[in-house]
Amino acid sequence: MEQQFRNDRIFVAGAWRQGRGAEITSSFAAEGTDNTVVSGASAADVDEAIEKARAAQANPAWRGLKPQDRATYLYKISDGITANIERIAWVQCRDTSKTLTETRALAASAAATFRYFGAVLETSDDVLTVPRGAYQTMSVHEPLGVVAAITPWNSPIASDAQKVAPALAAGNAVVLKPASWSPLVSLELARIIEEAGLPTGLFSVLPGSGREVGNRLVAHPDISKVSFTGGTSTGRHLARVAAEKLMPVSLELGGKSPTIVFEDCDEDLAIAGILFGIFSSSGQSCIAGSRLFVQRSIYDRFVARLVAATERLRVGHPFDADTQVSSLVHPDHRLTVEDYVAKGLEDGGEVLTGGERPDAPNLATGAYFAPTIISGLNNKARICREEIFGPVLVVLPFDDEEDVIAQANDNDYGLACGVWSKDYPKSLRVGAAIRAGTVWINTYKQFSISTPFGGDGDSGLGREKGRDGLRAYQRQKSFYTDLSGQPHPWARWPARG
Ligand code: NAD
Repeated sequence: MEQQFRNDRIFVAGAWRQGRGAEITSSFAAEGTDNTVVSGASAADVDEAIEKARAAQANPAWRGLKPQDRATYLYKISDGITANIERIAWVQCRDTSKTLTETRALAASAAATFRYFGAVLETSDDVLTVPRGAYQTMSVHEPLGVVAAITPWNSPIASDAQKVAPALAAGNAVVLKPASWSPLVSLELARIIEEAGLPTGLFSVLPGSGREVGNRLVAHPDISKVSFTGGTSTGRHLARVAAEKLMPVSLELGGKSPTIVFEDCDEDLAIAGILFGIFSSSGQSCIAGSRLFVQRSIYDRFVARLVAATERLRVGHPFDADTQVSSLVHPDHRLTVEDYVAKGLEDGGEVLTGGERPDAPNLATGAYFAPTIISGLNNKARICREEIFGPVLVVLPFDDEEDVIAQANDNDYGLACGVWSKDYPKSLRVGAAIRAGTVWINTYKQFSISTPFGGDGDSGLGREKGRDGLRAYQRQKSFYTDLSGQPHPWARWPARG
């Protein structure tokens, strides 16, 4: 399984070269070691990548390519990812400390994303609109230009693919900036895209800081859209810059998603789904079901069973196929999670399980944190309101439908929601009443590239995935063509008599 790191330079418009920015150290937090040092991009590198992207995008060889021919590139990239799944999974595991089982699934999903958007491109129609006069009207879709894709560290290959695939399918060029904690997988993607023969200049990968590389990318006058996944405060900043430029922006931001357990649920299904919803990826997931509401009539028994199930989870090394909960991405991130747990205790919370680093000696050098459940808090407590992005679940009781809808919606985020009940009409009713872009009923954290995804409120703006995911990277142009052959009557021309 052990492989070599092969990408330590930036990828600027077809050239692998040293960046002019600060170097980035990629580390393997599960072992407390460094992977490799990657060259970082500078603002000047951003300018160069954008200039070349702009030229490549404007070239009729790309802009004028027929959909079925452009789709061929997406299929080749998909095949390239599939052929390299083990390598990508290993690199992403080393970069993020997610389990290999999970990173394999993420790589497979990235391959599916490229294939899907190739197919969407081939099957998308422009439309003749209904004429309301003696003219023909049609509306066609055009690419936007150069898209800046900015991604976080938690699922890099999947979030990269979710942006790069539709943006290329739509006929744009893309400059991708990965997060500093996870630069390696995006560089692997560059390698695959290069091997797929995508015309030079259409794709660049610029690892670097948000402050230098990110800010320059977003502010650059030749960037036509920013597609961002990351934290809410960064997203809000980008939206301000975008407002100044009147530039479209899509924002996939944080979450504090409620999971609701009604007394009539199948408890075993609910427990399995809740464990997966909060503790897979060690809770480092925007859609983590991090606030659990349990109906009061079953609260004590259900929470006791959930705690027992949590204590059976296997915390371990990400290469181990039995591991369910791996290390956090970085020791600094573990400090943030620990700080949140301390705040929960200050506010009167009680740790039902976890709440500390695991004591197994073989995990001592890694950034592990035990799956944690905290009760006894009010929904207004800081750890019930703010995103922790770690393996920490808060549990709260509720009385009835009205009560749980009010509590679940009493939060600034609106990303996802889980409902566990055998009463389907009730589940739908509650799901409809909760502010969330995605509702899971008797399941959690299921994903499909053909189903739109995104958040409301502090969880973001816009939707990714689905057939309309392509449209997010295009603008519409409408044509009116006269069919009457008559001069416009208003002009009274040519003059008669
Ligand atoms: P982050 O906001 O710190 O960084 C995200 C990306 O933005 C990184 O590449 C970073 O370098 C860049 N960036 C930072 N400052 C910038 C600036 N001023 N200009 C331009 N770019 C800048 O987030 P993170 O810590 O990497 O990721 C965790 C966050 O991402 C969590 O809040 C999580 O919920 C969110 N997330 C959301 C989704 C979703 O689909 N809604 C998915 C995954 C993660």
